[in-house]
Amino acid sequence: MKETTRLIAAGRKKQYTQGVVNPVVQRASTVVFDTMEEMHQAAKERHNRTLFYGRRGTTTHFALQDAICELENGTGCALFPSGAAAIAQTLLSFLQAGDHLLMVDTAYEPTRDLCTKILARVGIETTYYDPMIGAEIKSLIQPNTKMIFLESPGSITMEVQDVPAIVDLARSQGIMTVLDNTYGNGLQFKPLNLGVDISIQAATKYIVGHSDVMMGVAVANERHWPTLREHAYLLGQCTSADDAYLALRGLRTMAIRLQQHEQAALEVAKWLGSHPLVCHVRHPALPSCPGHEFFKRDFVGSNGLFSFVLKQSTPKALSVLVERLHHFKMGFSWGGYESLITINANMANMRTQTGWDKGVVVRLHIGLEDTKDLIADLEQALTAFQSALKD
Ligand SMILES: *Cc1c(COP(=O)(O)O)cnc(C)c1O
Repeated sequence: MKETTRLIAAGRKKQYTQGVVNPVVQRASTVVFDTMEEMHQAAKERHNRTLFYGRRGTTTHFALQDAICELENGTGCALFPSGAAAIAQTLLSFLQAGDHLLMVDTAYEPTRDLCTKILARVGIETTYYDPMIGAEIKSLIQPNTKMIFLESPGSITMEVQDVPAIVDLARSQGIMTVLDNTYGNGLQFKPLNLGVDISIQAATKYIVGHSDVMMGVAVANERHWPTLREHAYLLGQCTSADDAYLALRGLRTMAIRLQQHEQAALEVAKWLGSHPLVCHVRHPALPSCPGHEFFKRDFVGSNGLFSFVLKQSTPKALSVLVERLHHFKMGFSWGGYESLITINANMANMRTQTGWDKGVVVRLHIGLEDTKDLIADLEQALTAFQSALKD
């Protein structure tokens, strides 16, 4: 069965849907029991998608968890109120004082901040590593190295990591691996199939797909699921049934949305690649992106997110660029149906290991608007940008 087909049926058990197409939105704090026996039974089964207490989830959450486990090929899936919470919880569940963490230098900025502002405070030491390091990561391993964190492609600059090389090395040394798979979304990349222990996504992005819910998911293999599940529970991580419903609804159309995002983004990226103001584009499916060869080997497709580096810029010209655009709104996040732009003028501050001496990085999310409209929009804004460079 093709994966797109599987995703349509995933999590649609009759006990969750009660005979209609979608799972019922079951809002609950308290679950009520009629007998002592019933309550004891529920307590015993509370880890296995059984109603026990609201924080453990209801049938709406169970349906989403089942579906995400199918998507990412995992044993269990914990739901979080944001992607950032999923990352923070996973790191705190498996690291303790005295442990050493290897963190990719191109990690999402709040992930880096978590390491410096919270993990350091509780005695967890972080070393940042070059995303292109591959098996050479061996030289950074210390006796107390407990975890390697990957994010591929990297945030903003899009470097694709040699995930199997790093994971194989980690496994041989008994070190666990966690990967931020928000870009790979589970359909286009499956970290657990390559031996990664926990795959995390900001479901906020493509799973939800409509820019209206914050949610994080962490999918663990059999070995790591019990710890992740219990620690998330003890630190009070939970989501509303309404948000779980919306995430599941987004998931049903994710494959078809991704096809359109992919095709449109490739078209726009190629157009930008030959634009005279553009130094180079960083789109994992194009050869100008570092790690493109790993992308071709490990991913089955790309999506709407990529960036490009400007040859030259001034703060004033950058303002003109973003303010002239009609279809690209300025805003954080991505993965919704709409096009977005962010300007990253201070990349060097976010790269402590590898540095950044290239130009300003413009990141685009290509939404579901017509591609010709998007290219025309960029063309007129870049013309205005060019004139403003002379001012
Ligand atoms: C957005 C994002 C996150 C954080 O997700 P939130 O739901 O916004 O907290 C984490 N990792 C990556 C790669 C992201 O793009």
